[in-house]
Amino acid sequence: MSTTDLHWRLEGRKVVVTGAARGIGYAIARTAAASGAAVALLDLEAPALEAAAAQLRTEVPGAEVGLAVCDVSSYDQVAEARRSLEATWGTADTLVNNAGIVVNEPAEAMTVHNWDRVLQVNLSGAFYCSQVFGVPMLEAGAGSIVSIASMSGLIVNRPQPQVAYNVSKAGVIMLTKSLAAEWAGRGVRVNAVAPGYIRTSITEAFLGTNAAQEYWLPSTPMGRMGVPEEVAAAVCFLASDASSFVTGEVLVADGGYTLW
Ligand code: NDP
Repeated sequence: MSTTDLHWRLEGRKVVVTGAARGIGYAIARTAAASGAAVALLDLEAPALEAAAAQLRTEVPGAEVGLAVCDVSSYDQVAEARRSLEATWGTADTLVNNAGIVVNEPAEAMTVHNWDRVLQVNLSGAFYCSQVFGVPMLEAGAGSIVSIASMSGLIVNRPQPQVAYNVSKAGVIMLTKSLAAEWAGRGVRVNAVAPGYIRTSITEAFLGTNAAQEYWLPSTPMGRMGVPEEVAAAVCFLASDASSFVTGEVLVADGGYTLW
């Protein structure tokens, strides 16, 4: 296969993105739509989803957009989201596990509720969606799953204490490798993107604080935070046929943070 035969675009593809109402998830949906895919947005609240869908249709005229209200930490809600999308939008051949939360608490003080919630959303949610949306891909013998892990699944970030988040993202990385190995021979590729610090609501509370000025930016060789579109581009590469021989990979997009 020559490079001219590689397929970077997503024409004809049906891409489900979780946590797509804002931030990185929205940027992924918009980039996938601009690359030719039909996209389905999953998130917690109907008004936010409807606003995101309207914005996406404005930014990408002609985009085919589906919606489903869904808490990824509920297996039943994920299964219902698939049923409702199949009735209204179609069957996904691509899944992006993006929904995630962070709770910053010292390990010795972290509540059981917060520990469970972070693991349930970030890790169990990614597994539930991978199974629910992955089964039709396995039946079709083709599909691509990309999960948003984090550099926090590879290193311990400073100065914020976030044990549950770090563990959940390390789990997403091993989930990616395990599913990739199980499903590689059946046409379904499974990969992850591990972003560094990206400008979204998760990080904006820290901008201008000592955390960002003393730790985050000086520890990043590129000297800046990333933007959601830079994660979206990496996701769309892994979702597309341009990466057809790549599975079980973790693409780190962190401005070089994990080099030092
Ligand atoms: P945001 O908080 O900006 O957006 C997350 C979206 O996911 C929100 O719309 C949120 O809904 C939704 N969401 C939260 N919980 C659930 C759930 N249980 N089910 C469905 N949707 C849910 O986050 P980011 O865009 O920054 O982060 C996206 C992903 O990227 C996360 O997995 C995060 O861990 C990861 N990441 C982010 C980095 C960063 O620096 N921003 C760095 C590395 C990884 P609502 O608004 O209603 O809460």
